[in-house]
Amino acid sequence: MKFNYATELLDLTKKHNLPMSEIMIRREMANTNNTREEIIDKMKYSLDIMKKAVKIPLTEEIKTMGSLIGGQEKKLMTRFNEGKSITGNLISKAVAYSVGVLEVNASMGIIVAAPTAGASGVIPGVFLALQEELNLSDEVILNGLFNASAVGYILMKNACVSGAEAGCQAEIGSASAMAASAVVEMLGGSPQQCLDAASTALQNMLGLVCDPVLGLVEVPCQSRNGMAASNSIICAEMALAGIETLIPFDEMVECMYTVGKGMPVELRETALGGCAKTPTACSKCLKF
Ligand code: SF4
Repeated sequence: MKFNYATELLDLTKKHNLPMSEIMIRREMANTNNTREEIIDKMKYSLDIMKKAVKIPLTEEIKTMGSLIGGQEKKLMTRFNEGKSITGNLISKAVAYSVGVLEVNASMGIIVAAPTAGASGVIPGVFLALQEELNLSDEVILNGLFNASAVGYILMKNACVSGAEAGCQAEIGSASAMAASAVVEMLGGSPQQCLDAASTALQNMLGLVCDPVLGLVEVPCQSRNGMAASNSIICAEMALAGIETLIPFDEMVECMYTVGKGMPVELRETALGGCAKTPTACSKCLKF
């Protein structure tokens, strides 16, 4: 079960008549010599961390490293619970959970860096909102995580998921592509539709720079997790509706990496440009 590109993954799903998640599980079994149960248990451990992380900011006061964020999930969920949210149940919850995980991350709490700490809110936000709203079982969610892993593996193999190397598009964009693909599989879409959703998610994030204020993973990282969560759901919705992407996923991975490599160093996690260089951000820097 070896694959390096989406085209190869797709061929395997067709040849064996299996979903992407199952190909990824079998790849892990072959590469690690772990049993199926051991691999699934490890993923369950990650899922448990994700479940805790989305709820922590609702019950605990969060003190982050730079004090630039904190309390955003609580505000969003209060508005949601009052029935005032304007984005619908699924997206409202996905955004709230996503930004909450960034609060946990910025306070040195435990999160799952899938694919990175800066982008750690997207997958739990989307997956756990989907689970609650559509009453999905843990088994479905775990399969979704393996699907997302397959997409993340292709991104890491052929491009990167590092903001320092290729901008926020590589971090948040990758997380969004992973989540978009997984949502499609969790809702019964085909592997081709999964990859269409992932490609669209990357297209929508293309060119996003990495510009953390004070060099801390707080602003604009937190709101970008919320934005990427909603992007994932929208891209999955488009793919499930039968909208095919013009640009195949493999081409978008290469395109994203090329764009990232062309970004000036100021826009690749150095905090020397973008949001980090605004007067307000710089004034925070003097006080920090
Ligand atoms: S701005 Fe940079 S540090 Fe923040 S989430 Fe994006 S890639 Fe990560």
